[in-house]
Amino acid sequence: MKTIYFDNNATTKMDEQVLEEMKPLFCELYGNPSSMHTFGGQIGRRISKARAQVAALLGCEPGEIIFTSGGTESDNAAIKGTLAALPNRRKVITTRVEHPAVLAVCRELENHGYMVVELNVDKLGRLDMAELEEQLDENTALVTIMYANNETGVIFPAEEIAALAAEKGVIFHTDAVQAVGKIPLDLKHSNIDMLSLSGHKLHGPKGVGVLFVRKGTRLSPFMLGGHQEAGKRAGTENVPGIVGLGKACELAQKNIKEENERVKKLRDKLEQAILEKCPDCRLNGDKDNRLPNTSNISFEYIEGEAILLMLDQYGICASSGSACTSGSLEPSHVLRAMGVPFTAAHGSIRFSLSRYNTGEEVNFVIYKIPAIINRLRELSPFVVK
Ligand SMILES: *Cc1c(COP(=O)(O)O)cnc(C)c1O
Repeated sequence: MKTIYFDNNATTKMDEQVLEEMKPLFCELYGNPSSMHTFGGQIGRRISKARAQVAALLGCEPGEIIFTSGGTESDNAAIKGTLAALPNRRKVITTRVEHPAVLAVCRELENHGYMVVELNVDKLGRLDMAELEEQLDENTALVTIMYANNETGVIFPAEEIAALAAEKGVIFHTDAVQAVGKIPLDLKHSNIDMLSLSGHKLHGPKGVGVLFVRKGTRLSPFMLGGHQEAGKRAGTENVPGIVGLGKACELAQKNIKEENERVKKLRDKLEQAILEKCPDCRLNGDKDNRLPNTSNISFEYIEGEAILLMLDQYGICASSGSACTSGSLEPSHVLRAMGVPFTAAHGSIRFSLSRYNTGEEVNFVIYKIPAIINRLRELSPFVVK
């Protein structure tokens, strides 16, 4: 059975061209870039090239790119490194809808005497900018707010937030893991101080990411050891991963506009058909201000997990907003923050597309979904028959 992969916000297929670029770095060019010999030294040029490729996609200087082990490390490093550099400031501002890589770090900070403010969002998942402005003060070390939400695709006004923070002299970090490669960024003309991205979310390899740190931003090193990455992140470089990420950024930059217009058309077709054909379902998130690839839909009275299992029988991969852990069903913290009713939050499904999806795949899913939903509703104890 063919896999129909609509779970690209979880991870993406690596581009074959990325693999080709990485191959020589395993068994041929395996030297350590920190070595004095020519054999090792030549690897440094590969890393420099990758750094330039990433910088070109972001519109920043290569010297502002720090390679990490992924989005989670970049987020941890930005938050902890900023607080370590500014010991007199004890307040962090974030949102209720962040990825766990930010939210878990912030919640842990509360155990260490920090004041953490989690901003609210409205029904459509939009940020309350007035609340942000109110909370910004001279005790605030950092604002960390995602660029685009992984569950709903809702895009936050990162530049507006950055300008507000800059006005108050507060550092702004954004988790842009879901935005990079999907919407164009230009960090040169921006007030964003720090930005996280991850290789495997843009058709690059897993286990490699980037923290952009604007020149002059105070950040304590977050991994101590050797002198790699300008002393900010010690440890022998993940050379194949870094080279692969560089190539993935180059490919993303080349086709970003056409590719995302095509993906958006597929997404819109899928979404419209589902909303039309299935009764009692609703779109979650700000329809007009979303990533082009993401659609989060709630089906009333049924469990997201049940829908996923049925889709899985046809090889269709999607994701449910709720995570089922050890038998307890926790609805998504993102949908809860948006005030999505309990019955709808439990039945939410995220479809996330990519450059590899086709119209044929979309048609197949459109054809299968209504029958799946009807069948599950027939079995549902919540539906009055
Ligand atoms: C996937 C994701 C991360 C984590 O990135 P990893 O490279 O898997 O550690 C962080 N933030 C967001 C918004 C994500 O979607």
